[in-house]
Amino acid sequence: MDACFTAFDKDEDGFLSLSEFKLICCALFRNNLGKIYTLEEDQLQEIYLIFDLNGDGMIDREEFEICWNLWIKVCTRPKSAFLIVDVQNDFISGSLNIKHCAAQQDGLEVVEPINRLLDTVPFDSVFYSLDWHPVDHVSFIDNLHLREVDATSGVSKEVAKVYDTVTFKGPPLIKQRLWPRHCVQDSWGAELHKDLKIVDNAIKIYKGTNSEVDSYSVFWDNKKLTETTLSSQLREIGTTDIYICGLAYDVCVGATAVDALGSGYRTILIDDCSRGVDLVDIEKTKACVISNNGVIVNSSQVKAMVEGRDRRPELGYKLALEIKQKLSTTNDIDK
Ligand SMILES: [Zn+2]
Repeated sequence: MDACFTAFDKDEDGFLSLSEFKLICCALFRNNLGKIYTLEEDQLQEIYLIFDLNGDGMIDREEFEICWNLWIKVCTRPKSAFLIVDVQNDFISGSLNIKHCAAQQDGLEVVEPINRLLDTVPFDSVFYSLDWHPVDHVSFIDNLHLREVDATSGVSKEVAKVYDTVTFKGPPLIKQRLWPRHCVQDSWGAELHKDLKIVDNAIKIYKGTNSEVDSYSVFWDNKKLTETTLSSQLREIGTTDIYICGLAYDVCVGATAVDALGSGYRTILIDDCSRGVDLVDIEKTKACVISNNGVIVNSSQVKAMVEGRDRRPELGYKLALEIKQKLSTTNDIDK
């Protein structure tokens, strides 16, 4: 830490100016081939201000120590989790085969690149999520007769088709997209695809287990009523970075990435290890991840990132924002 501070304090005044701090960021945000990534000027300034804790316009040695421990160390040595979302039979060749959806993508294509990542990348932890529904689940179109549709529903029970969204009478009112019966607990369709590699010590997360509420995100059900065990397990391991991929891109993968970002994780979505339902919605998912300071990468880029050799400014910025929030809450408690 001290050596780094001294090396970048070019004018030896005992402080890091913004331009000296910029040099640190140039050294930090590089790929494995040494190419320097551009950190937006306004983001650089924002990060500088976050670590100028006493607001005197300079970063002193004490402030840099905090910056080093909370920020630089995580950027250079992230703790990674690999989360493989719903690579289950029903989505690949069963009742909700995404090949039959608008985008006509082949879910099987994710298996090979995911297996390659599992074989070659030293993730700190690996998670598999499973859509895991009881027989009377609210999302199945053939369960429509079990519940009352509200008068305000855009689509009535009589005319509702697969993929339509209806509003069920509550309370509370529940908007629900209707899917074919899929991933019923303990059925073949709910099994992970037989060619997907299952690594030792991986953690399985089951979602959508409540009959009355659907669950796209691996973190929460769609109403945010119940949390899965994912959050607590990630925290226990000290995870900083989540790599997310699987099926379906614009439904469960996307919802999980948005929740990961909302929970403060540096979030990486792996494009070529994901397949989706609708091309427009896939593009919306990507835009949403990027606008929330997540990144979208190809699987070939993952290993260097996990090993801290490819360090993205977007993820550094995201972490700085989280640190800012954490520091301000601690200050509030101190007051
Ligand atoms: Zn489902």
